[in-house]
Amino acid sequence: MSDHSLRLLIIDDNLQIHSDFIKILATKNADKLELLEESLFGEKTKKIELPQFIIDTAAQGQEGVKYIAQAKQDKKPYALAFVDIRMPPGWDGIETIKHIWEIDPDIQIVICSAYSDYSWEETAEHLGQNENLLILRKPFDHVSVRQLACALTKKWQLMQESRSYTKNLEARVQERTKKIEYQATHDLLTGLPNRAMMIDRIKKEINIAQREKSEFAIFFFDLDRFKLINDSFGHGAGDSVLKSVTTSLSKALRENDMLGRIGGDEFVGIFSPVTDKKIIKKITVSLLKAINVPLKVKNHEIIISTSIGIAVFPGDGNNTDELLRNADMAMYRAKELGGNQFQFYTSELAKTCFGRLELETDLHRAINENELFLVYQPQYDLAKNQFVSVEALVRWEHPKKGTLLPIDFIPLAEETGLINTIGTWVLETACKQNKYWQEMGLPKVRVAVNITSKQFKQPDVVACIKKIIDDTGLAPNYLELELTENIILNHIEAPKKISELRKMGIYIALDDFGTGYSSLNYLRNIPLDRLKIDQSFIQNISHNRDDEIIIQAIITMAHGLNLEVVAEGVETQSQLDFLKSKKCGEIQGFYFSKPLSSHDFETLLQSPEAFASIKDEKDD
Ligand code: C2E
Ligand code: MG
Ligand code: MG
Repeated sequence: MSDHSLRLLIIDDNLQIHSDFIKILATKNADKLELLEESLFGEKTKKIELPQFIIDTAAQGQEGVKYIAQAKQDKKPYALAFVDIRMPPGWDGIETIKHIWEIDPDIQIVICSAYSDYSWEETAEHLGQNENLLILRKPFDHVSVRQLACALTKKWQLMQESRSYTKNLEARVQERTKKIEYQATHDLLTGLPNRAMMIDRIKKEINIAQREKSEFAIFFFDLDRFKLINDSFGHGAGDSVLKSVTTSLSKALRENDMLGRIGGDEFVGIFSPVTDKKIIKKITVSLLKAINVPLKVKNHEIIISTSIGIAVFPGDGNNTDELLRNADMAMYRAKELGGNQFQFYTSELAKTCFGRLELETDLHRAINENELFLVYQPQYDLAKNQFVSVEALVRWEHPKKGTLLPIDFIPLAEETGLINTIGTWVLETACKQNKYWQEMGLPKVRVAVNITSKQFKQPDVVACIKKIIDDTGLAPNYLELELTENIILNHIEAPKKISELRKMGIYIALDDFGTGYSSLNYLRNIPLDRLKIDQSFIQNISHNRDDEIIIQAIITMAHGLNLEVVAEGVETQSQLDFLKSKKCGEIQGFYFSKPLSSHDFETLLQSPEAFASIKDEKDD
């Protein structure tokens, strides 16, 4: 049987009727019948295109119902049944149809009745109003039978098609919904639950813990120096590191633990239940270890580490926000302590963080309200016996806390990115001030400005500095930038940017030399003008012979590299004498002058006597 054939069932106790139906509905007979009709009525009737029917017959209602059940089971259902209204001794047509529709409500039915039988209304009343039922009066003419067969099987076919189309559509909608649901709750890179899902899970975990009076821990992971991987090897490499980390962490987890990725390199774990901190510590150590394995990234072997913060429910927070925030805070502390370690949340930690947050808000205001100001510390040239430059140092006049030193707010500014605004302000103010002194006709000095790492890493830092020079009208050779070793070591673009700045005529000094890891040999390749020996060495003059030797070596090597040398933090005559004896060119420190207000520095420049008096004050 072809799949497209339509199945018909004739249920009639009169076997003659069976063969009449078969004759009328068999395709090959249809043409003969048409010819007969033509000869009888003398005109060509419209040809009815009969589909190919497969016709079965049953003499009794019960038998017909059996066929229908079997067909349904075989998934080859009947499209149409012609059912006689009276079929003694068994069920009558009405009874039969009731049974048929119980099995297969889709089947189209033509009930065949004599005029004396039930009316349409009576039939409908018995069977209920049904759109799948038509009545054919006996004796029936074959055109009606064929028309009914064609129309009703077509209707049945359309119904099936529409149903399968709807089913298909539903399946597709369901599939898409599932996909959207997955995307909304998962991180597509690692396949881990995302932030939304983790928050949901933490909420559930809180409910369970409240019910069972148990505890669970939230772990907040942030990979150490992940940005460096992205910056050095590209985002593709960063992604593959994230995947590897996911695999390592997942392997180290216990069965009931759950891990999610909630941001770039931030993961959150739920560890449930936990009974004591010793177990948490053990798990954490194994997680740190699991991550600490060498990874191959673009032919380089790198070792990843992570900082972990831990908050335990209910002690460290009784809702999702609090738990996540506190675990994050603890992670931050682990990072501050050098990374590759974990920290538990504590209430003292919260106090410190809150203080920082307050300070951050204050710092935003400080910039807008002009609470920042500069002081100037002169640098004295021992050979020329005069000031050659002055270092601009920032201060913050905090309305409540008084005057704050850079150590109190520059690290925070660096971390929050505010350093760019502050740094630009410092540069602009220092250049403007120097230009003003020059316009006043004072002896010309260079102004030295400190630049932080983040500031120098800005892609447009050179253009920004140039603009400030242009806007203020200060000649570039009266500006000096103080960079630290870390900036030069950790920023690939540093040598190029330094060359561009030097080409403009700006001086470059290496600040706090000796505190970083750079060797003078490495510095050979960096175009610099000056080197500032860190004050920690200077303070040890006359106390620590090793430091004296180091100072001597730095001065000798710096001269070999054609660099001027400045000693920072000179406070005493003996320090000065030592440095003079070692041919250190310049001195900066309290011995000569503390950082001064712009007005005091102006006075100092105007009269060397004033300088002497400042020095005397210091000596008092
Ligand atoms: P630095 O660049 O090494 O600046 C020298 C620091 O040493 C200044 O501290 C100065 O007051 C202090 N100092 C100078 N002579 C002596 C001395 O004889 N004895 C002692 N004990 N200290 C002396 P300050 O002003 O607190 O600045 C600290 C650091 O903050 C600076 O170190 C610099 O790295 C940074 N900084 C200062 N101003 C700025 C700025 O405008 N922008 C940036 N990015 N950083 C700044
Ligand atoms: Mg400095
Ligand atoms: Mg310094």
